[in-house]
This record gives sequence, structure tokens and C-alpha cells, in this order.
Amino acid sequence: MKSSILVITLMTLFTKSFDPQPKTNIKGSSWNKNPVIAHRGAWKKNNLPENSIASLKEAARLGCFGSEFDVHMTSDSVLVINHDADFYGLHIAEVTYKELLTKQHPNGEHIPTLEAYLKEGIKQKKMKLILEIKPSKADPKRDLEMTDHVVAMVKKLKAKEWVDYISFSYDILKRILVLDSKAKVAYLNGDVSLEKLKADGFYGADYHYSVYQKGEWFVKAKELGLTINAWTVNNADDIKWLLKNKVEFITTNEPELAFETIKSENK
Ligand code: MG
Repeated sequence: MKSSILVITLMTLFTKSFDPQPKTNIKGSSWNKNPVIAHRGAWKKNNLPENSIASLKEAARLGCFGSEFDVHMTSDSVLVINHDADFYGLHIAEVTYKELLTKQHPNGEHIPTLEAYLKEGIKQKKMKLILEIKPSKADPKRDLEMTDHVVAMVKKLKAKEWVDYISFSYDILKRILVLDSKAKVAYLNGDVSLEKLKADGFYGADYHYSVYQKGEWFVKAKELGLTINAWTVNNADDIKWLLKNKVEFITTNEPELAFETIKSENK
């Protein structure tokens, strides 16, 4: 009897110490249990615009663990969702939000604001929102200002529970942790060791999958209690290789293929 209590206690401690896909604190809900993160939303199969509200909704409909999207800031400090620094010929950092509204996606959507995107995202309670802050090449000070605005918006909308942050800028991620020490942040650029990510309080690595093909990333990450996310994985063999290595997250333009591959591997 005593030993079984000890086992249960140890199991509980272990589970608490590292749970890459924890239960939500949102009442009556838990995150989708799979490693699939739709890259820029789920857009490809149905020819939706990347980073549109439509692609976010499709990712949720598919039951992805997460949906990724990219944040930029206009010249009048409005946070908007788009991959490139340009939106249909307008350079986002140099135009106002009002000017951006002169353009639209082929499906009729205007560029989503971060506020609208998060408000849509938190209507559902099963899929995480993977928020990438895009650094500008020229102005690190502006990047930090943008980061402050992003974290404030997430807080204002009470969206913290949904949001994990990623960036190619180490400084942006460190800034997020200053603003919110409990935020989950993962670095994208592939050039920092897991030991350093751990020491700096990061949640994990989010590197191109080719980085993981060299070295003992998966074993070491588990030892350190870090997550591994891999981008952008669009074919079945690479997905299978990652599943075999028990990767926590697979970021893909092909979430439907990822689900099919997971299903076939579980047979
Ligand atoms: Mg991105």
C-alpha cells in the first residue's frame, strides 16, 4: 500500500515537472492532443490566404494542437497579422493601418489586426495560438516596442492561456519573459544550444527540422524538460521521422497530411 502511494506520488511529481501539452486552466476544456501546428493557419488545401482569419478557423476545425501566425506593426503602432513585411505592395512598418485597408486578400478579408485575430482565436478552447513576432532588420528598438504592445494586447484580451510565443529574435523572446515570466517562448533560428535556452527560461527550441538531424536534440531536450518544435515539415517521411523521435510539435503547411500520417503510424 505504502509503495503504491510512493509510486503515485513520484508519478505525479514527474508529470508536473514536464508536461509539454498541459491541460488548460480554462474551465471545461483541454488542448487538442496531437503535435500538429498549422503554419500560418490551415490555408493550403482550401486555397485560403495565409495568416487570414479563415485559415485560423480552418486550423481549429481540423483539430490542430496549434495555429501559427506572424505579427508586424504599422507606422501608427497597430499590430497586424501577415507573413511578409509587405502586404500586397505596401510596406507594413511604413504605412498606417488605414492605408493597409486599401488592400485585401483574395477572399475579401482585410489584413487582420492582432486584436481581431486573438478575439477570434479565443472563441474556441481547444487550439493554442502560436504567435510569432517578426523582427525588423533595421530597428531593434522598434522590435522591443512592438513586443511590449503584443504582450500588452495578449494580457488585455485575457488570451495568455492560449498564446505561446516564437521569434527569430532572441532579444524579442527575452523581452517577453521580462514582461511575463510565465510566458512560453521558443526560439526559431537554430543557432542556440538547448542548455542556453534552458538557462534563459525558454520553453523550447523551434528549429528547422534539418537542425535536429545532427546531434542528440530529442534526448537532451527531454532531459532538460524543453519542448522540440520542428518547421516547416511538409512531407510524410519527415513527419514519420519526427514522430519516431517523439517530437512535441510539428509545424506544417500540410496539417491534413500530418493527421493522415499520424493515423497510419498508429495503426
Ligand atoms: Mg511564422
